[in-house]
Amino acid sequence: MKLHRVCPRGAYVHIPFCRRRCFYCDFPVSVVGDRKSGENSGTIAEYVEVLIEEIEATPRSPHPLETVFFGGGTPSLLTAAQIDRLLTVLDRQFGIASDAEISAEMDPGTFDRAKLSGYARSGVNRVSLGVQAFEDDLLKLCGRSHDAEDIFTAVENIRHVGIPNFSLDLISGLPHQSLEQWRRALDRAIAISPNHLSCYDLVVEPVTPFGRFYKPGDRPLPDDDLTAQMYRLAAEMLSRAGYEHYEVSNYAKKGFQCRHNRLYWENQPYYGFGMGATSYVGDRRCSRPRTRKEYYEWVARYKASGGAIDEPPTSTEDRLLETLMLGFRLSDGVNLLEIRESFGAEAVVAIVETLQVYDKNNWIEGLDRSGAIGERRSLPARVRLTDPEGFLFSNTILASLFESLTVESR
Ligand code: SF4
Repeated sequence: MKLHRVCPRGAYVHIPFCRRRCFYCDFPVSVVGDRKSGENSGTIAEYVEVLIEEIEATPRSPHPLETVFFGGGTPSLLTAAQIDRLLTVLDRQFGIASDAEISAEMDPGTFDRAKLSGYARSGVNRVSLGVQAFEDDLLKLCGRSHDAEDIFTAVENIRHVGIPNFSLDLISGLPHQSLEQWRRALDRAIAISPNHLSCYDLVVEPVTPFGRFYKPGDRPLPDDDLTAQMYRLAAEMLSRAGYEHYEVSNYAKKGFQCRHNRLYWENQPYYGFGMGATSYVGDRRCSRPRTRKEYYEWVARYKASGGAIDEPPTSTEDRLLETLMLGFRLSDGVNLLEIRESFGAEAVVAIVETLQVYDKNNWIEGLDRSGAIGERRSLPARVRLTDPEGFLFSNTILASLFESLTVESR
């Protein structure tokens, strides 16, 4: 955790198009079908123009961007020329540091070597590949638009083009998924040897097809015990394979943590552009509308106002809660010395008192200034959730912290 900065150093750009909608997804996306992409699609071309208007209407900042993240949706539905234009506009508006991390989420089956080489020439140096599962029946059951073979072709293409840094996304807790299947998925991911892996536990959102087909906890969804076993298995296998479990759902080889996502977890400011994107600039969080029509209207108003964000600043109490909620996701945990400096000694006392009960379960641990596990009797410099048990119960721990800190401030 670093002390809160004022100027954003990262930009998130949302590309809200997918070939199909996966059965578990409730993100703000538009389905364009299997044949439409990039400049072939009038809808995508129009969206890119509005996105550029939004970026150009945003007040400049004195610091160049250190991270850019194209998320989605499926950013790899954009042509290399469209990605290049967006990066050129971002660079003109804010500057992009020469060693910036520039990531793009991509789905297998939506890019070939030529497109990827074009992305790389424009500066994309990190790929986050949406794999989710390696078995065709699981992929089909999730409504994914690719099969297992597409995954291996995508990885081959990334390697061939020489993009040095890539991550795979996997999902555990899928319907009908057994512990053995999850073990095989992890084995396959480890054999591919990406620098980074994200392992998400399926969340069944009510408004999705999965929300209509399945009830959380009921078969064919794995029960809580099985999902906890899957979580522990990932932590064990991936740490044995040399990955650091640096965030609740994220693993990285040394030096390959996602710099952009760390901005969120460290509660630092960032730009957000595009439909449904959130920005955090000047202590104001702003969520853009989640439909294209409303987003286009929002951009028109934003331009007319000279890039003004009409949201109240985050209150000190909310900033503290957000700092804890996000900071405890990281294996670095929360720096109590910085909490004291930003929010006062009472906040530290309330945090330590609330966490004491979890210390007995070994769900939390205190670290001294050098980062070593501290003496239980002394006040730690930093406190974090243990891996994997503390991470597994993070929701319970955070709920207690919220309760005690909001009661405290009443
Ligand atoms: S590819 Fe990603 S964003 Fe698109 S529908 Fe599937 S899960 Fe949602």
